[in-house]
Amino acid sequence: MTDPSELVEQVRAGDLRLYELEEHADAETAATARRRYVAEETGADLDTVGGFGFSAAQASASNIENLVGGAQIPMGVAGPVTIDGGATDGEYYLPLATTEGAFVASVNRGLGTIEAAGGATARVTDSGMTRAPVFRVDGVVEAQRVTEWVDVNHERIRAAAESTTSHGELLAVEPHVVGDSVFLRFVYDTKDAMGMNLATIATRAATDLVEAETPAELVALSGNLCSDKKPAGVNAVEGRGRTVTADVVLDRQLVEDRLDTTPEAMAEGNTRKNLVGSAKAASLGFNAHAANTVAAMFLATGQDAAQVVEGANAITTMSVREEGLYASISLASLELGTVGGGTNLDTQSEALDVLGLAGGGDPPGSNADALAEVVATGALAGELSLVAAFCSRHLASAHEELGR
Ligand code: NAP
Repeated sequence: MTDPSELVEQVRAGDLRLYELEEHADAETAATARRRYVAEETGADLDTVGGFGFSAAQASASNIENLVGGAQIPMGVAGPVTIDGGATDGEYYLPLATTEGAFVASVNRGLGTIEAAGGATARVTDSGMTRAPVFRVDGVVEAQRVTEWVDVNHERIRAAAESTTSHGELLAVEPHVVGDSVFLRFVYDTKDAMGMNLATIATRAATDLVEAETPAELVALSGNLCSDKKPAGVNAVEGRGRTVTADVVLDRQLVEDRLDTTPEAMAEGNTRKNLVGSAKAASLGFNAHAANTVAAMFLATGQDAAQVVEGANAITTMSVREEGLYASISLASLELGTVGGGTNLDTQSEALDVLGLAGGGDPPGSNADALAEVVATGALAGELSLVAAFCSRHLASAHEELGR
């Protein structure tokens, strides 16, 4: 086994580059050497960063380059909550990774209120991961030839795309023409995978066919009409990943006892803040803080954190009913999975185990659907708790009491 100090010396002498260490040592040793080198160069103490619990070999193989250790985020748990879903059924504890004090307490209060009402209902209403390459053509006449060819040859395009995957299924190819650019928005059922790698690899195979048979020339495999990791109306309207809704009806007494306010005040607060305020701000997110739950569950369960951008495309509704309060949250573009990406790392996999959702589902896709329903229920709880805090004017005092 190579001594990390020898590797550090070789880097210092210019004989090795930092990213080459895994070629000369196992992943754990390479990370130790790299950490020591960076600590010596910068004067930073990286002992805590070095105290990580996941497999360095696994992380280096699939998730990270130039590994030095782990950025650890406190993880809490909220619940249990009962969810009556399309894929969920029963009680769930939600693992939440965050550094925002009072957040887990807030979700826990919301979940407790939902549980006292008998639980939430949740459904995934649409599902599809997208990749939209952009092609160059010489003008609109050629653009139309391309889109007509795509329309007629859907089966051949599907066969080419699906030749790269045993799980992914091509659902649609939506053409968009802008001058001498043609965008083809590919939509896939990616089962339990978030699907961005799957969709990209499959789309590359399909674009080879498009280029071979039409005058279109590929400029970029992602033409930003996908649209990944950027605020975009297309995702809020068309959906991307899972489109999911969770809802609940709370008795008037429950709202008064647990949330310290009334259904009328909650409905008005939601309308003025989440709907009117968001409209005035030209926001894509008509909610109070859905991104908080999405981010905390994404970090805990190994999702791609940058896709919290799309996860914030959510609309919260609250209205007064005879029984009390109807509340819902609909997340248009929740991009997540239970296989692939960061879900295989030891800590993230353990968090998925808390939900009973690690790995592929039976049938395929059911675990990711269930995870989407759990995230939506957590987000609904967060909305109930925060809107109630505003309505009862408890927000500042709650943070003060928790010392933040
Ligand atoms: P992935 O790590 O490539 O894993 C997905 C693969 O798992 C599938 O292609 C499938 O293989 C296999 N699989 C096994 N059981 C499955 C099941 N039950 N359901 C679905 N698939 C199953 O992950 P990904 O979800 O496609 O992509 C997520 C990763 O992409 C993340 O690491 C993210 O950070 C990264 N990412 C990539 C891009 C990009 O443009 N490439 C953009 C954003 C994010 P088969 O296909 O062979 O069936």
